[in-house]
Amino acid sequence: MSVKENLFALKKRINDFEKKYNRHSQSVSLLAVSKLHPIEKIKEAYEAGQEAFGENYLQEALSKQAALTNEAIEWHFIGHIQSNKTRKIAEDFAWVHSVDSIKIAKRLHEQRPLDLPPLNICIEVNVSDEPAKSGVDLKNVLSIAEYCLSLQRLRLRGLMTIPAQENDFEKQRIPFRMLFEVFQSLREKGIALDTLSMGMSEDFEAAIAEGSTMVRIGTALFGERHQL
Ligand SMILES: *Cc1c(COP(=O)(O)O)cnc(C)c1O
Repeated sequence: MSVKENLFALKKRINDFEKKYNRHSQSVSLLAVSKLHPIEKIKEAYEAGQEAFGENYLQEALSKQAALTNEAIEWHFIGHIQSNKTRKIAEDFAWVHSVDSIKIAKRLHEQRPLDLPPLNICIEVNVSDEPAKSGVDLKNVLSIAEYCLSLQRLRLRGLMTIPAQENDFEKQRIPFRMLFEVFQSLREKGIALDTLSMGMSEDFEAAIAEGSTMVRIGTALFGERHQL
């Protein structure tokens, strides 16, 4: 199947899951994860109507951006952030999904150019409680969220998670439900969040069932990844 056919099939599945789980129509948006996929595939998806693309590796993302200046792409950074990379991320992306410390948030704020709108951010949360995984521990989410709210050059939009891989549908739902509950508790405290970035190719049905507003999908759209 072509990227265009995959995109339309994927949008239909997202729409079907919205109906199945009583979600509002178009309450779930699609972030096309183009890491390790060539520029031609990004162009194909863009020409079929996809505007938001997610990348994990800064150098790869910057070279794609340099080659795609005619396209009005909304770039999202979704990979792990090393502090020496924050300047280019603050300068060249519209969104960052993987803010996982006060230090990274502060640097992105300080380095966001004044002529750009505030950088949209999500706090990455580790809901699986695995010590090796990236993301903020559940107990620290509120304090980091409050800190981010104090930074004028950032716009805190919501939360993101990458759960441990799991094949059973009911088990897939558990970490997504946990993130949704944290999201709701922050909103009950008056923090105006609108984005729950959760769900990938193998688990986006479970994520939509639990309230995802943005699914990040690579393989189901572009096929298997290869080294570029
Ligand atoms: C690679 C990646 C995705 C997409 O994964 P697929 O399984 O290919 O859909 C989503 N989110 C993050 C953070 C990723 O690194």
